[in-house]
Amino acid sequence: MTRLEEYRAIVGDEYIHDLYQKAKKLYHKHIVHINSTFQGGGVAEMLIALVPLMNDTGFDAGWRILHGNPDFFSITKKFHNGLQGEQINLSDMKKQIYEKTNYSFSRYTHLDHDCIVIHDPQPLPIIKFYRKRQPWIWRCHIDLSHPDPELWNFLKGFILKYDVVIISDEKYRKKDLPVAQRIIRPAIDPLSPKNMNIGNGTISRFLKKFDIPTDKPILTQISRFDKWKDPNGVIEVFKLVKEVIDCRLVLCGSMASDDPEALRIFEKIEQKVQRYRANKDIILLNAENNILVNVLQKTSSVIIQKSIKEGFGLTVTEALWKETPVVASNVGGIPLQIKDGENGFLLEPNDERGFANRIVEILENPDMARELGKKGKEYVRKNFLITRLLMDYLDLLREVLQ
Ligand code: UDP
Repeated sequence: MTRLEEYRAIVGDEYIHDLYQKAKKLYHKHIVHINSTFQGGGVAEMLIALVPLMNDTGFDAGWRILHGNPDFFSITKKFHNGLQGEQINLSDMKKQIYEKTNYSFSRYTHLDHDCIVIHDPQPLPIIKFYRKRQPWIWRCHIDLSHPDPELWNFLKGFILKYDVVIISDEKYRKKDLPVAQRIIRPAIDPLSPKNMNIGNGTISRFLKKFDIPTDKPILTQISRFDKWKDPNGVIEVFKLVKEVIDCRLVLCGSMASDDPEALRIFEKIEQKVQRYRANKDIILLNAENNILVNVLQKTSSVIIQKSIKEGFGLTVTEALWKETPVVASNVGGIPLQIKDGENGFLLEPNDERGFANRIVEILENPDMARELGKKGKEYVRKNFLITRLLMDYLDLLREVLQ
């Protein structure tokens, strides 16, 4: 596991010293993060890196995973979709299962910490089942700009009990929520297996192992199989590009344990691919493998992120960090990372022709691709590394625990 001092070479001694200094006021404090999965998706990805680094600075930070059954996760997935704007049928049954799962978890989970950080809607109601003796923070990683009104009203009942809500961007701020709202941008860990430098030997080994030939340029989207990530649209973009330049498409998506829709969507995509005449040039992967993600982000000629909604989009950050050109939708957190034409390209999510044109442009201009890549990496170094996320949390914890 990486130690805080190993980040010196990336962010400098001063920054590391500042982190240690800020943590001084938190000595003897014990905080805990709670979310609903240890793998798959951006939240788990950040907690894996963040929690050990919090401990390195000198206070105690823990991490618990809410346990739920398939019914619960199918309901919370609907809530996730509802928060992102889809209409949902909010039945009493759904509300009951949602609350009851949180209640059961609270019966065997002792929370006597100095501060509790709850991630996303799955464990949100748990606050109801404890006597509140400490600050509670709700960290929402989702695009909250147009939630289903009835669902939002229901969830707000729990949120009101929290002391602070963390959102990823100003545009997710809720005017009708009287709770303090803080913006903290997500981040990636540059030293994790997913983002660290890897040698050519490893790259070739992984490409061989997963049967990915490199005789043609590779376009890749790495995302859970989720309708908001629009895997269908990515295939349509690929078909358009392929009319101009021979290339391959890789769709790589792990199955998060709190995402019950993924398998169904994966199977639909499989069928769509089978119907396509050049289906040998589309590679579908559902392996949960960080080095594979690293290899794909590094070796692809273009990374696509054609999301319809995107809370932040760590896959974009990861690709920019590897100096690979990114063509992505102008939605959610993506425009916080990509300045159109400078360090990548932004398109409206339904503009498949636009996506294809930009991809062709990149494939035909290696100098431009290199320039986009260099700027992308620099932007991530300045704004979206885990050390900055740690600094933001230290600031917030000092504030709520003073
Ligand atoms: N991811 C992965 N393997 C996959 C697909 C996704 O490891 O096959 C990771 C991806 O690298 C990123 C995270 O899952 O770290 C996805 O985070 P993002 O913010 O892009 O989207 P979310 O899944 O949270 O909506």
